[in-house]
Amino acid sequence: MQHRIIVLGAGYAGAVAAGRLARRLRRADAAVTLVNAEPDFVERVRMHQLATGQDLKPRPFGEMFAGTGVELRIAKVTGVDVDRKTVAVAGANGAGELAYDTLVYALGSGWDAQGVPGVAEHAYEISGRPGALRLRERLARLGAGQTVVVVGGGLTGLEAAAEIAETRPNLDVALATRGDLGDRLSPKGRGHLRKVFGRLGITVHERATVTGVAADRVETAGGGVIPAAVTVWTTGFAVHPIAKETALEVTGTGQIVVDGTMRSVSHPDVYAVGDAAMATGPGNKPLRMSCASGGPTAWQAADAIAARLTGGKLPNVPIRYFNQCISLGREEGLIQYVTADDRAVRAVLTGRLAALYKELVCKGAAWSVANPTLGLPVRRRPVVRSGAAAGSAVREPA
Ligand SMILES: Cc1cc2nc3c(=O)[nH]c(=O)nc-3n(C[C@H](O)[C@H](O)[C@H](O)COP(=O)(O)OP(=O)(O)OC[C@H]3O[C@@H](n4cnc5c(N)ncnc54)[C@H](O)[C@@H]3O)c2cc1C
Repeated sequence: MQHRIIVLGAGYAGAVAAGRLARRLRRADAAVTLVNAEPDFVERVRMHQLATGQDLKPRPFGEMFAGTGVELRIAKVTGVDVDRKTVAVAGANGAGELAYDTLVYALGSGWDAQGVPGVAEHAYEISGRPGALRLRERLARLGAGQTVVVVGGGLTGLEAAAEIAETRPNLDVALATRGDLGDRLSPKGRGHLRKVFGRLGITVHERATVTGVAADRVETAGGGVIPAAVTVWTTGFAVHPIAKETALEVTGTGQIVVDGTMRSVSHPDVYAVGDAAMATGPGNKPLRMSCASGGPTAWQAADAIAARLTGGKLPNVPIRYFNQCISLGREEGLIQYVTADDRAVRAVLTGRLAALYKELVCKGAAWSVANPTLGLPVRRRPVVRSGAAAGSAVREPA
């Protein structure tokens, strides 16, 4: 009997975990099933590009996983029962249930309206493809001189404002942020950001806490009003509620609490990776929801699962940061170098070289989904059978 591994979600983290597991384990011993709502890989890091009319390269999973041994299941996950070890799915053929021996939870995240009045009704968002396509259609209908207000001064907000301003110089683009522009960057990084935003004609509203959104405006604390034909909400991501509805130990925001091998601290048969996981990095700080953390968490989980099944050595690779890569349109960029725990240092890379660097990072992230062992040849190892059924064969290495 094969050990049944089910990976939920084929984003940067889940797709990498599934592919890496299939390359590390022998097909006769382990069956790796990847469940995803969509039949193709969505490059979330390019959603601001999609929203501004750029067309992204199609990446069908059928091609990406051809010959890898990963079995694809296109279906929506509707629930997880960690006691019965089952996943409820709804697909083209109706509802069903999948049983697992090991589960990798990687359902990612979506936008976070944060309960601010009017946001859910009136704002646009770019956390995923449906939102980006909706904004794309709306932007295409905007006439010259109309105002687009991007709310949120994080990396997604900066990238969105710059992309919209560069693509549509006839629009009036503004960014509202609770703090100061680029306040998590180094002085050099902040300076560059201001220069590029100035060149692109982006109006910046600093120390502006948005308290409400209406069809034609954004309201800020203290009674301020910013006219907005379109409001784009980018104030952070929220994880899907499915994990919170299970018996898994989760944080208040619904992320699954995991140990250094990405294994759930409450349910040893469950691993969580990417945005869905609450994992800590250097300095015991929570990892940032990002593609930058998603890939390494997936490698860690896949290698730990393979090690526990085969009696191999557990991976112990610290997950650290190197830089924050920010696109500022297609011609400009900002690479802010950071400490291992993600604090800005003095060094930055700017200009066209930074734009090119960021483009290569995005391409590399998509490439690593199709090449989860980073192109290195891997010897598939046999599962060590210590129980009557393969389902109970998970063994801690000596
Ligand atoms: C515009 C934008 C720019 C960004 N730029 C950067 C950047 O420059 N650098 C960086 O590090 N990060 C960036 N990020 C963040 C990064 O995209 C996410 O942190 C990353 O995608 C998380 O990866 P993940 O695999 O955990 O989740 P996701 O990529 O969200 O993947 C989750 C997968 O699960 C599937 N799924 C969800 N729910 C269900 C369900 N119920 N049933 C079945 N399938 C389901 C989804 O379809 C998806 O395939 C950006 C995000 C956005 C929106």
